[in-house]
Amino acid sequence: MTKTIPNILLIYTGGTIGMIKDPETGALRAFDFNNLLDRIRELKLLDCNISTTTFDSPIDSSNMEPKYWVAIAEIIEKNYTACDGFVVLHGSDTMSYTASALSFMLEHLAKPVVFTGSQLPIGDLRTDAKENLITSIQVAALQHYNKPVIKEVCLYFEYKLYRANRTTKINAEHFEAFASLNYPDLAESGVHLKVNNERLFKPNARKELVVHKNLDENIALVKLFPGISERLLTCIFNTPI
Ligand code: ASP
Repeated sequence: MTKTIPNILLIYTGGTIGMIKDPETGALRAFDFNNLLDRIRELKLLDCNISTTTFDSPIDSSNMEPKYWVAIAEIIEKNYTACDGFVVLHGSDTMSYTASALSFMLEHLAKPVVFTGSQLPIGDLRTDAKENLITSIQVAALQHYNKPVIKEVCLYFEYKLYRANRTTKINAEHFEAFASLNYPDLAESGVHLKVNNERLFKPNARKELVVHKNLDENIALVKLFPGISERLLTCIFNTPI
């Protein structure tokens, strides 16, 4: 069987990972993803074709909302046949929310969608952005007999690949910023990229991708704690929830 070269689509939504510091003013500005391969030459060593698309105006992840989740889902839907894998670059602060939402919006997904971000801008000397970006693309391009190894939405950060809808951001200072507290890591990047095959999601290959875009935003998240008052709950439930 001849090996095919996977096509990977990189989707930049915003966040620190796509920023570079202006050497003169010190201000952060958006990185030019159109010249990605020339700016990060290591990417040329990867065994895949990389194309890029960016949000018209990149957004900080604190401004993320369901309409942008739909926008990401639509980009994936439009390119689903032509591409073998997707890497979504996203601000780290709300990345777990977006990645979790996408995991439910993309029903019968059978290709990798890897979310990643970084703690330091891509142009910084000590940046974690390059490793996160390079390995995420490598993970999305992993194939076995010309079929993707990963067939689910995941999140890659600081040498670990997690199931997206099990992750939470645990730290804003450390490079190790995410954890999956109730599901084992899907892969670990060390000297070798070790994939935890038994833990990967195995979708029904006969089903077609269904993209759910009709999202109900009248949802409240209520954390129960000892002493929570009826008054507080009444306030919440007196809204159109
Ligand atoms: N404030 C940024 C964001 O979440 C931080 C980051 O990218 O990590 O968009």
